[in-house]
Amino acid sequence: MQEEIVFIGTSDLSAHFRGKSFPASELPSKLRRGVGLAPTNLYMGAFGPIQTTTFGTSGEVFLIPDESTRVHFLGDGRPGEHFYLGDFYEMDGRPWDYCPRGALRRALEDLARETGWQLYSTFEQEFTYSGVDAHPPRPYELDGLRRIGTFGTDLLSLLRCAGITPDAFLAEFGPQQFEVTTTPALGLRAADEAVIVRELLRATAFRHNATVSVAPMADPDGVANGTHVHFSFRDAVNHPCMYDADQPLQMARPAQSFVAGLLSALPAICAVSAPSVASYYRLRPNRWAPVSADIGAFDRGAALRISPMNATDPADRARQYNVEFRVADATANPYLLLTALVRAGLDGIQRGARLDQHVAEALPRSLDEALDHFATIPDHWFGAGLRDGYVQFKRAEAAGLAALTESEICRRYAAVY
Ligand code: GLU
Ligand code: MG
Repeated sequence: MQEEIVFIGTSDLSAHFRGKSFPASELPSKLRRGVGLAPTNLYMGAFGPIQTTTFGTSGEVFLIPDESTRVHFLGDGRPGEHFYLGDFYEMDGRPWDYCPRGALRRALEDLARETGWQLYSTFEQEFTYSGVDAHPPRPYELDGLRRIGTFGTDLLSLLRCAGITPDAFLAEFGPQQFEVTTTPALGLRAADEAVIVRELLRATAFRHNATVSVAPMADPDGVANGTHVHFSFRDAVNHPCMYDADQPLQMARPAQSFVAGLLSALPAICAVSAPSVASYYRLRPNRWAPVSADIGAFDRGAALRISPMNATDPADRARQYNVEFRVADATANPYLLLTALVRAGLDGIQRGARLDQHVAEALPRSLDEALDHFATIPDHWFGAGLRDGYVQFKRAEAAGLAALTESEICRRYAAVY
């Protein structure tokens, strides 16, 4: 019998899924004690080497798996995979302030305490698959789906095996471009699923001797891969709380304040939702991607889109009502992205922000511009250490690419995402 290897990882600041692995015989003790890592491991750059780190070579933190995140499937003539997502803890057992998953957990707890709301969300993932011909593109065609062979069905099987419910799988607009969507999940689980979906895309492509890229742009004039995040809230008794037929945008007043807070903080949020240099080649006119901090009912060019409801019964409409956040791509760490979204919205609720008074300004045009905004967000969003470390880390990423052309930059990102 072949010995199995188990991996424990997390989405780091560059949104790569990194961690450590060990023989399955060690699993019982690793489930309790986790795997030890240098704090600097969180600061591995997008392209591999350590970029900049506030920790240098010192310190130790433990990544302890959350058993509910287990993904385990058998190989098909090849080794299977067995992995977990984890949380970082200090040596004395306290949660580590820099843990992205911990930052989201704290934001969700604050949201629940202040409003009674629970977040439901899902990440729609667009991606480019190398295993089909690029030309001609077959946007939305059945033949586009046919040509991907068993990739789609294999992917959906792995998702189900990971406890994720697929919602759609389709041939998207661009050459070799496809999209997979999943049903909304509660709180942390939605971000976990975003990480798992990206890994299972890669696992499936690997089994087909092909590759998947989720990078925002493979070429600056090409079609973009976005990661749209659909979100809604339910109250403590699981009742939907965003819909009100009598309000503008059919959105209940507190939800309007949440969304107004989100829109006004959008320039800063871009630093975690569109966090690579190439992200800003996507956020340009005529890309079906947003260019300003605006909201639109049923408008795929807006930063926030009210998703359509397909029902006449008010209770069904309330259940379906959700907002799509379109300013994101898959170079974003899902935990940091949802943390920013929740924090900005909660701030909006706390100060009674008015959606009808929101003025839609242009989105940042570069990562550096977004980081200028992000550097000024309140300490309580992420903690000052994580915020400042993130700014340093991302500034170094942008500086490292400054001498390259847009095409070269796209290629660099497409090679690693
Ligand atoms: N590919 C577009 C993007 O980058 C989105 C297209 C769509 O609406 O699905 O966001
Ligand atoms: Mg799409």
